[in-house]
Amino acid sequence: MAGRILIVDNVPTNRIILKVKLSSAFYEVIQAASGKDAVLRASECQPDIIILDTDLGDMSAHDACAQLKADPATRHIPVLIATPAGDTEAKIAALKAGADEFLAKPIDELTLTARVRALMRARATTDELRRRDETARSFGFAEAAFNFTTPGKIALVGRSTEDAMIWRAGLRGLVSDDIEIIAADRLLETIAGGNAADIYVVSSDIFGDTNGLRLIADIRARQNTRFAGIVVVHGLQDRKEAVMALDLGANDIVTRGADPEELALRLRLQMRRKKEADVLRTSVDEGLRLAMIDPLTGLYNRRYALPHMTQISQESTRSGQNFAIMLIDLDRFKTINDTFGHSIGDEVLIEVAKRMRNTLRGIDLIARFGGEEFLVCMPMTTLVDARSAAERLRAAICGTPVTQTANGTPVSVSASIGLTMGGEKAASIETLLEISDRALYDAKAEGRNQVTLGSHAA
Ligand code: GH3
Ligand code: MG
Ligand code: MG
Repeated sequence: MAGRILIVDNVPTNRIILKVKLSSAFYEVIQAASGKDAVLRASECQPDIIILDTDLGDMSAHDACAQLKADPATRHIPVLIATPAGDTEAKIAALKAGADEFLAKPIDELTLTARVRALMRARATTDELRRRDETARSFGFAEAAFNFTTPGKIALVGRSTEDAMIWRAGLRGLVSDDIEIIAADRLLETIAGGNAADIYVVSSDIFGDTNGLRLIADIRARQNTRFAGIVVVHGLQDRKEAVMALDLGANDIVTRGADPEELALRLRLQMRRKKEADVLRTSVDEGLRLAMIDPLTGLYNRRYALPHMTQISQESTRSGQNFAIMLIDLDRFKTINDTFGHSIGDEVLIEVAKRMRNTLRGIDLIARFGGEEFLVCMPMTTLVDARSAAERLRAAICGTPVTQTANGTPVSVSASIGLTMGGEKAASIETLLEISDRALYDAKAEGRNQVTLGSHAA
C-alpha cells in the first residue's frame, strides 16, 4: 500500500472526486465530513497525509489545521489545504496556519499526486526522527536537542543575476538565513569547491528552456549537497515541467512572481526539514552514540536495534504498512580469519558495513547483531521491495573482493540472508527474529551466498 490519506470536505461530491483521483494512484483514502470529525479521525487512523478543503462547514481549514498541529498525536502529519486558485492571501494564510502545502482549486490530478509523493518522502524522514527520539528516551537519554537557531544557507540560482536579485530583495527581512546569489553556470564549480548551501532556489528556465531541471539531478549527485532542499521557481506556462521537478527530487515548487512572503514561508519549512534530516544523519549526543553504536563498524548495536524494531513494528500496526527484517551472516568467516588473520577479518567487517550502508535507505535500520552477523529492519516496505533490497545487499557484499586491507590482499566474502516480513500477521519482534534465524539457517544449508524468505507457518 502506497499510504493512507484523509480527505476532509463537507461536500460529499468533492470528497468522491478527490477519492477517485487518489485511489487510482493506489492510496488508501479515508474521509471526514467536518473539521471536528477530521481531528478525531486523524488521531484515530494516523493517516500519512491530510487534505483539507478551505471550508469544512463547522470550521475553516485553518482552524482545523491549527488544532491538528497543536495535538502531539497528529502534529507530525503533513497537511495540505485546498485554496481557491489565485487567492494569494488564502495561500499565505494556509502556510501560516501550519499547513505543509496548499493546492489550488480545482485540484489538478498531476499536481496532486506529485505533491503527495513529495510529502510521503519527507514524511519518511520525520517518522524516522521520531522513532530515534523515542528509542533514545527508552534508553533513558534526554530528548535529542535540535538546535535550529543557527542560520542556514540559501543559494539563489536565477536565470540571470537580476532575477536572483529580485528574489533576494523580496526575501529581505522575511528570512533569517544567509542568502547567496550563485550564477547558474558556476553552481557546480562552487559546490565542488566545498561551498554547499542548505537550500537551493533554482529557476526552471535556466539555460534557455526547462534545462534548469537538469540542475536538480546535478545537485543531488554531489556528495555535499545530496541532502539539500531544492525549490524550483517556474513560469505559469511550465507548470507541467515543474510538477515533473517534484518527481525528479525537488522538494517544492513555486510560481515565478509569487508573493515573497509565500516564498519565505516555503523556505522556512524546507529549512526546518533539512535541519531535522541533518540531525537524523549525524547522531548528536556522544553519550548516546557510545551506548548504541558498535565501535568497529559504526553500525547500531544490538542493544539499540531491539527497541528500535519495536518502534517500527508499532508504527506498522498504526499505518498498515509492512516492514522487513533481515538477518545477515557472513559465510565461512572463520576461514577468512584463519587464512588472513584477525585484523584483516576486522577490515572485512568494516567494509561490509560500509557496503550495506551504501545499499540501503537512510530510514532503514542497520545493526551489527553479533560477531559477523548483521540485522536490517526496513520500515514501510513491501515483500517485493524487501526481496530486491536483500538481493542488492547480497550482491554488494560478494560483488567485488575487499581490497581495502592493510597489505592490499583481495579477500572474497559473501553472506547468507534470512528475510521475514512483519506487519501482515501480528507477530512479536522475537517471533520475527526466530523466523529470520530459521530462514538464515536454511540459506546456509542450501549452499550459502543466498537469500531465503522465512515462512510464518509454524
Ligand atoms: P558460516 O558460513 O556457517 O556462518 O561459517 P562461519 O565461519 O562464518 O561461522 P562461525 O560462527 O563458526 O564463525 C564466526 C567467526 O567470526 C568466528 C569468530 O572468530 C569470527 N568473529 C566474530 N567477531 C569477529 C570480529 O569482531 N572480528 C573478527 N576478525 N572476527 C570475528
Ligand atoms: Mg558466519
Ligand atoms: Mg555467525
